[in-house]
Amino acid sequence: MSQFNAAHFQTVEAAREYLEALRWGGERVCPHCGSLNSFATKKAGIYRCREKECRKDFSVTTKSVMESSHIKLHIWLQAFYLMASSKKGVSSHQLHRAIGVTYKTAWFLSHRIREAMRAGGLVAPMGGEGSIVEADETYFGNVPESKRRTKTTSGRPFTKSGRTGPSNKRAIVSLVERGGNVRSFHVAVADASTVAGIVTANIHHETRLHTDESRLYTKVGAHFATHETINHSHKEYARGDVTTNSVEGYFSIFKRGMKGVYQHCAEKHLHRYLSEYDFRYNHRVKLGYNDGERADLAIKGAAGKRLTYRQSH
Ligand SMILES: [Zn+2]
Repeated sequence: MSQFNAAHFQTVEAAREYLEALRWGGERVCPHCGSLNSFATKKAGIYRCREKECRKDFSVTTKSVMESSHIKLHIWLQAFYLMASSKKGVSSHQLHRAIGVTYKTAWFLSHRIREAMRAGGLVAPMGGEGSIVEADETYFGNVPESKRRTKTTSGRPFTKSGRTGPSNKRAIVSLVERGGNVRSFHVAVADASTVAGIVTANIHHETRLHTDESRLYTKVGAHFATHETINHSHKEYARGDVTTNSVEGYFSIFKRGMKGVYQHCAEKHLHRYLSEYDFRYNHRVKLGYNDGERADLAIKGAAGKRLTYRQSH
């Protein structure tokens, strides 16, 4: 694979140097206590904190999603690169073949990389004065029979659409800033109060909100600079700059990718796949990122996050 000619994809030593530069730059930080005072032990890549109260050993993977794994560092880098650069995602089977690890290892590795891609910490609200954010909901995959709702969100029983209606599907709400980033949420039920909570917590109130004619947004729309709707049931898709084409475009990338690559996605993992697709969309070529930069940002996101064996099941 020609893209893996770079040294850090080929040897553990070069991979470690690459990861250390990404995580620490010039200043090594003890991940246990935050001290800048540490020294290299005789074991390659293992450092010891000099602080009296700490004195602990660490490496570049300590307290990151790569911690305590037997996977070699250059293999990690190959996996990060593949997942960051593929447009639609990479199945565990593809990963297993491409980087020469077992299927099971590839599966754990890909979930950890998704965790690294998850936006963490406090994130500023989207939009602002003069900006447009499009909000929409979609349904994906199947909910097991036992967990299906028997009534609509307004409390009426399902009628004709019954078993094929949205109660069988998992609900996703996404917000896309025009020409910018996406944030997606897997929700139990896409009803007005759930949607309102997401929209108000994530979008600046001076934003222009664009949605379709769905009644889910009517009330919450009043909190924003304007709330303009497009009437899909009247075959209207754009009126001036009012449209929900960006968020619908995002949904179609997500669904095409998930259908092609991740046929079996357990509901409890759906939010992880959304993190992966959000991450790639938010660092897409159009916003000025290339494959290498995107992979580096995912690797940087690995620090400070962990995914235990139990969580990834
Ligand atoms: Zn320390």
